[in-house]
Amino acid sequence: MSLVDSLRSALGADSVRSGADIGARHQGDWLIKAGPDDIPLALALPRDTAQVSTVLRHCHEAGVPVVPQGGLTGLTGGAVPVRGAVLLSLERMRAIEEVDAIAGTITVQAGVPLQIVQEAADDAGLLFPLDIGGRGSCLIGGNLSTNAGGNRVLRYGMARELVLGIEAVLADGTVITSLNKMLKNNAAYDVKQLFIGSEGTLGVITRAVLRLFPKPVTTSTALCAFTEFDRIYDFLRRARAHLGGTLSAFETMWQPFYARAVEGRTQPLATDAIAYVLIESMGTDPARDGEHFGALIEKALEDGLVTDAVVAQSMKETKQLWDIRDASGELVQKLNPVGNYDVSIATGRIQAFVLELSSRLAARWPGAEAICFGHLADSNLHMFVKVDERPFPEHAIDEVVYGCVRDWQGSISAEHGIGLLKKDFLDYSRTPEEIALMKRVRLAMDPKGILNPGKIF
Ligand code: ZN
Repeated sequence: MSLVDSLRSALGADSVRSGADIGARHQGDWLIKAGPDDIPLALALPRDTAQVSTVLRHCHEAGVPVVPQGGLTGLTGGAVPVRGAVLLSLERMRAIEEVDAIAGTITVQAGVPLQIVQEAADDAGLLFPLDIGGRGSCLIGGNLSTNAGGNRVLRYGMARELVLGIEAVLADGTVITSLNKMLKNNAAYDVKQLFIGSEGTLGVITRAVLRLFPKPVTTSTALCAFTEFDRIYDFLRRARAHLGGTLSAFETMWQPFYARAVEGRTQPLATDAIAYVLIESMGTDPARDGEHFGALIEKALEDGLVTDAVVAQSMKETKQLWDIRDASGELVQKLNPVGNYDVSIATGRIQAFVLELSSRLAARWPGAEAICFGHLADSNLHMFVKVDERPFPEHAIDEVVYGCVRDWQGSISAEHGIGLLKKDFLDYSRTPEEIALMKRVRLAMDPKGILNPGKIF
């Protein structure tokens, strides 16, 4: 019997597709599509962990690669098909199994969309804080296997910090069930962390126990303008001290980003500053939070730290401010062709890095522009790089950007992973010893190398 036939007889005919029935949607992620030769063998759509295990056991015996797929909203090609692979989509595993309000946990299957996890937490009067632009389409299993970041990392951490338990299936079909609900569990290795952020190369996540938090009831938001970049660092320190644990966002937009983002929108502040910060605080005291937040902004204005500011007075104004930051998605379309980067640099050195990178780019491409924004407090810088050369010299720009990141001991991937897109540059941010250890772990867990081959390394 062929592999596809044995999968069909094990899972049911409607759960295994081949040829044109696989569908265009499974051929790539938001940014990267499979090449003409990367034709997958089949698409499997298991309904539970046992079926995931069956698919992996059959593929392992046959030595056929498996590419796990979630919502396909990634930006580095981690879920892109490889030639002859079985695509393993978790999208039918959509059960929310339990909300435990006392433990502060939610147990979910890997195919639940992020937004549905957020809503289930909200219905229970709690908060699941992971939040990224693709919330409606991305699946929680993908969020975990890529260790997603987003806008609230500053307060709640990356996806990794929000997980207490994991169930995952190894390359040979072995099911590792570790659905721990306890905050403290030091009984030897924390193996769940192996599956988080390993982009489907060490196992397929099938279920998870996630942490829930008290739901904030107030949101205070302001946009601040700065004419000296170093003042932003001072303002960040002051905001952390003043707001304590309630500081929930500190998004920074450099002038070239802000000026483009407000085109065709209400423009809350003039476009002549050096950079802008969207600051947000989420609290639990409706009587005092707004005033406390307002006092921070007022004092910063008084002291000349901030040159101009607007505090949102309604939900509508809050949304208007966030729309400017969230214009990154439309900007990347508008600027096309453009290099799109997600890197980390120690927070206090970010502006010096931006200046250095800009001068390196200009030396090679006169008129080159780095359009920067990002989660400054998380040390995470996003950049669009525009140059006039055609055809667009993407790889040459990568070399300049990642070369500069290497020289500044930064990371070539802050929150988007490595996938296919950044694998040539992994050694810019990881030592040979680190990479050798990663490969040994991979060899131990998947000796035949069937899980998502060609990704990361
Ligand atoms: Zn981001």
